[in-house]
Amino acid sequence: MDVPLLDLQAQFAGVRQEVLDAVSEVLDSQVCIGGPKVAELEEKIAAISDCKYAVGVSSGTDALLCSLMALEVGPGDEVITTPFTFFATAGSVARLGAKPVFVDIDAGTFNLDPEQIEAKITARTKAIIPVHLFGQMCDLDPIMEIARRYDLAVIEDAAQSITATYKGRKAGSIGTCGCFSFFPSKNLGGAGDGGMIVTNDEKLYEKMLLLRNHGSNPKYYYRLIGGNFRLDPIQAAILLVKLPHLEEWSEGRRRNAAQYDRLFAGSSVRTPYIRPECVSIFNQYAILVEDRAALIEGLKEAGIGTEIYYPVPLHLQECFTAMVPPGLSLPVSERVSRHILALPIYPELTPAMIECVADSVLRVASRRDDTFGTV
Ligand SMILES: *Cc1c(COP(=O)(O)O)cnc(C)c1O
Repeated sequence: MDVPLLDLQAQFAGVRQEVLDAVSEVLDSQVCIGGPKVAELEEKIAAISDCKYAVGVSSGTDALLCSLMALEVGPGDEVITTPFTFFATAGSVARLGAKPVFVDIDAGTFNLDPEQIEAKITARTKAIIPVHLFGQMCDLDPIMEIARRYDLAVIEDAAQSITATYKGRKAGSIGTCGCFSFFPSKNLGGAGDGGMIVTNDEKLYEKMLLLRNHGSNPKYYYRLIGGNFRLDPIQAAILLVKLPHLEEWSEGRRRNAAQYDRLFAGSSVRTPYIRPECVSIFNQYAILVEDRAALIEGLKEAGIGTEIYYPVPLHLQECFTAMVPPGLSLPVSERVSRHILALPIYPELTPAMIECVADSVLRVASRRDDTFGTV
């Protein structure tokens, strides 16, 4: 049975007519920038995130960039973050002339290890960007405590974790601000690029509104140097159609994760660890295996799609060489990046498909006998 890593056609089939109608409505109105669809989406995303304010932007990357600009992060500043994330987390820091300072991850959750943050704080540290990886929020209490003590901003990179919770609190609502992505593969994905920033800080909110539109207010008078970070109303209209399904889709992903967990129980496959105080939205279901190359090959032969998130931690990426202390070793990130593999987890998977994936994983495991150790 062929099982792709992600099947966006399957999701689209369920909302097709509504999406086409919503897009037609925007086109008929010819409100092609801003307008009521963007405002409505901002209101609804703020509400489901337990935040007062939301600013629709052009992507998750621009959400991070615009947040950092609003917090006046620039040359000479340092921002503490994880090396085990998508490039944009650290890329947006470096684009502003600031330096990403990488702190290793927790081996259980793959999220920033709060215990290692304080040692990396200097007089230049301006902010921390915890990334809520694969749908699970970071252990934010200790991170917020450190941030308060050193007067640092906290930008939650919640690109993969919209509506996830930590101790009952929503992703994006705990830090200074939170960033979401509507990239098609995220739990709430548009038909192209899009993103949003949420915050409870009114001043920051107003600054972000200016920054996403070149810093202009009134028109053609520039109070700040911003950019074009606007969210398209066509994307907003599509996201408004999908938003009512988000909870059921995330529930479907959790159900699939639970089935995998059961099927892998007692095997040497290391399944995702979700902390008891967290509810994950499982943007990814990533396992650790000893011989990953053999597993990828075996699954490919069986018609099953997989992906490596992420093969090279950011502190080892060529583009950051000049910003990273020579010889910096972050052993957990490095080990995890060698052994991690994401399996299909999208909500439209059937129990039979999950069983087929798990059987194939376990078949390769038993064929290779003791190659799947504990990682
Ligand atoms: C997807 C993602 C981003 C960037 O979002 P885009 O919308 O693709 O620009 C940033 N950080 C993380 C952790 C992501 O997964």
